[in-house]
Parts: sequence; structure tokens; C-alpha cells
Amino acid sequence: MNYRGRFAPSPTGALHFGSLVAAVGSWLVARHHGGAWVVRIEDIDPPREVPGSAAAILTTLDAFGLSSDGPVMYQSTRGEAYEAAFARLRAEGYVFPCWCSRADLAVHGGMHRHGQCVAAPDPDRPPAWRLRTPDDTIHWHDDLQGPLAENLLEVAGDFVVRRVEGLWAYQLACVVDDGEQGITHVVRGADLLDSTARQIYLQRLLGLATPGYLHLPLVLDADGRKLSKSAAALPVDPADPLPALRLALERLGAKAPAGPDSPRDLLHAALNEFKPASLRRSSLGVGGAL
Ligand code: GLU
Repeated sequence: MNYRGRFAPSPTGALHFGSLVAAVGSWLVARHHGGAWVVRIEDIDPPREVPGSAAAILTTLDAFGLSSDGPVMYQSTRGEAYEAAFARLRAEGYVFPCWCSRADLAVHGGMHRHGQCVAAPDPDRPPAWRLRTPDDTIHWHDDLQGPLAENLLEVAGDFVVRRVEGLWAYQLACVVDDGEQGITHVVRGADLLDSTARQIYLQRLLGLATPGYLHLPLVLDADGRKLSKSAAALPVDPADPLPALRLALERLGAKAPAGPDSPRDLLHAALNEFKPASLRRSSLGVGGAL
């Protein structure tokens, strides 16, 4: 099998240190297996998008010596593929329209289950579309976290695949595009661990192969909170990539030899010594030093 990995940032702000770790981690594991590494911009949520950030993320990745093998995929151009997947789910009776608001679902602890709506259909308002989830436990193996299992009905309930505004949900778009890009292994942050069972279920319904998964521990700030774009995490500086790149490699448990003075050379030097098993020993906590 030819390994194909990916990095799939959402353009909701500048690339921050936590995302850099995910980018470098997915690149290292892909290259360690002699594989390809592609970039996908997940721009399916215009209200959350920060104008210019997709281009800024790509420029920053480039400054860190990380460039996509082949064209960057933009989810904003992929509507037809999502529509086709949705039509298939609809034709097979897996999705249903839903007018329930958050307040409606509060009576069920905020969860929608068994395709049972609280709100009545309202012909004057567009519905969201939910995927009916069975009382099935999805089992999978994470290359870093070990064997995992999640009961979809308990944890996710009937989840949204198309939002009220007509926007595509991340779960559907991600699964369709991982399939289209031939991704064999997904390496990403552990904040997405709880999306994995939903994605595997969707892959099964859509007849797509399930890739391997490896979820990297999250980079935490000094107070133990996760570094994320929304938590005003520190953006990395494309004009001075080496310090952040060294720190990212270190956080991943990869050796960052002294000497190389370009990001590309540093990445390749680190790759020479990299073993995925060393990821297990790494602690990704970031102290006050950043
Ligand atoms: N676009 C998602 C994010 O930036 C990542 C999706 C993924 O790696 O599956 O959080």
C-alpha cells in the first residue's frame, strides 16, 4: 500500500503552534513510511472563516518547509461531491430532515436519538439533515492511543451532516475528501478523537475505505488548556521558523539535531532519526517558555 497522509487546517486564523505540531507530526509519519503528504483547506464554514487565513496558512507551511505533494484541495470547491454523498445517504434512508432547535433537544439532554424529532416539520424554514445512528459500538485501533471504542448512539446521537444554512458538516466533508484524496492514514490532534467513530460509520455507509488513525496528544498551554485557534493561541512566525520548528519536533519526541539552518534541512535531519514509536514517549505540554 502507498501511504498517503494529510494535513487539513480550517482557515479560521493564522497557523498556531498546536497546528504546527499536527502538520509536522503528520508529515514525519508520512515520510517515515515513504509516503505522500497532501494539504486540504477545510473552508466549508464561511461564518467562521478569517479572510486571507487560508493563503497565510499555506505561506507559513511553506516557510516551515512543508508543502503539499500535488495541488491543495479546497473544500469550498467540493460541493458537488458532498451533494452526491448526501443524495446517496438520503436515497438509502439514512438521513432525515430535522427542525429541532438546541432548546427543543434540551429535554433529551441535548441529544437527538432514534430519528425522533421534538419539533414538528415547518415548511417555512429549511431543516438541518441528521444521520440516524444505530446502537452500535464502533471499534478501531489508534496507532498511538491503542484500541478504542465508541457507541455512536450514546456519544453522538443522530448527528448533523447538512446544517440549517445548507452548509456541509465537517464529518461528511472530511470523510468524502479523505476518500477522494486516497488518504490511507490520518494523523491529527487528539481534539478530533471523538469525531473518528462518526467518520468510520460514514465511511461504511458510503462504501469508503477506513484509513489508519493516529491522534497526537494536544499541546497544552501553561494552565493546562488546549492551544487552539479560538483560544488565541500563539501564531507561529513564518519569518523566523527555526525556533518554533525545533520546539515542535521536540514536542513530538523527534530529535532536532543542531546544525541545519533551513527548515527543510532540519525536517530531513529529524526525519532520518525519527521513529513513530518515539511519539509515545513525548509529552506535548508547553510551559511558559513558548
Ligand atoms: N479542519 C480541522 C481542524 O482544523 C481538522 C480536520 C482533520 O484533521 O480531520 O481542526
